[in-house]
Amino acid sequence: ALTTGIVGLPNVGKSTLFNAITQAGAESANYPFCTIDPNVGIVEVPDERLDKLTELIVPKKTIPTAFEFTDIAGIVKGASKGEGLGNKFLSHIRQVDAISHVVRCFDDENITHVSGQVDPISDIETINLELILADLESVEKRLTRVSKMAKQKDKEAMAEAAVLEKLQAAFENEMSARSVELTDDEKKVIHGMHLLTIKPVLYVANVSEEDLLAGEDNEYVKKVKAYAAKEGAEVITVCARIESELSELDGDEKQEFLEDLGIAEPGLNKLIRAAYQLLGLATYFTAGVQEVRAWTFRKGIKAPQAAGIIHTDFERGFIRAEVVSYDDLIAAGSEGAAKEQGKLRLEGKEYIVKDGDVIHFRFNV
Ligand code: GDP
Repeated sequence: ALTTGIVGLPNVGKSTLFNAITQAGAESANYPFCTIDPNVGIVEVPDERLDKLTELIVPKKTIPTAFEFTDIAGIVKGASKGEGLGNKFLSHIRQVDAISHVVRCFDDENITHVSGQVDPISDIETINLELILADLESVEKRLTRVSKMAKQKDKEAMAEAAVLEKLQAAFENEMSARSVELTDDEKKVIHGMHLLTIKPVLYVANVSEEDLLAGEDNEYVKKVKAYAAKEGAEVITVCARIESELSELDGDEKQEFLEDLGIAEPGLNKLIRAAYQLLGLATYFTAGVQEVRAWTFRKGIKAPQAAGIIHTDFERGFIRAEVVSYDDLIAAGSEGAAKEQGKLRLEGKEYIVKDGDVIHFRFNV
């Protein structure tokens, strides 16, 4: 499964947020294929469409789709030089597919800030620089080998060396791989290196209770947003302490607490949606009287691969998919009505699954 790593300097609220994630956690019995690891938190992806489908179909069971966050503790200045947890920490980041970077945007005299004062941009740059330095090292190592082959006029090596040099120059200017414009072919060439700064990132601004309730961005958040805008990255504002309180409540209690606070939804929901988006993920549904269920897929995959998410047998024996879009199904009011209106489509092996598709797979066993 795809996972998002939570990173940030010490004392910014990572653990508080991660604990809220695990506390709110999904019922793991439903997700036997998910990682079991204390550093991994599995959350249910909130989706109103699933509630609507449940009302329409009244199944025995409803199962949301889930999403993983990985807690990556221990980054400090000097990590790329092996200080603190250093290399171990970097190897954990290497394994995630996207990064949620938590930034301290609250004042609190009682909570020490590692660099002595709250300065979100300097915090962001501290971490980004460590990642850039680690990438620089990887690129230089690789370049040493590749340039030898390039000297012998090896075409592939020459192409790779060109990309590596482009990246090297960016890293030397303290710019991330993300900010370097690369063609799809160039991206393929460096794919196997698992560079840290090529991973998509979103920023999580952790603000105080008061600032969250005030509903306006504080000065710190404004700075983070301006910084993120330059990278085309998204910023989610949360108050980790409130998330932590919310995660201990369920159902009606949670709703009441949210209403008391005057906020529409937990920050965690915003974070889950943003991370989902960042990874290019979408949701399709299976809907029957036994079970209505949401499934996560990577945008762009075809029907047989989507079927394979449920079970490898579904992919192997795939015959066709019967598809109705969520909107059409809701508008029609029932599957029968959707069929009468010609909204139920038969799709084959080449069909590219869309977000919100409600699908019955037909397959040989
Ligand atoms: P980590 O080192 O990044 O994992 O940070 P922690 O989650 O352990 O938080 C460090 C300290 O900041 C703890 O004492 C938290 O209670 C506190 N903290 C975290 N989030 C908030 C917040 O939203 N508001 C305030 N005032 N304190 C917070």
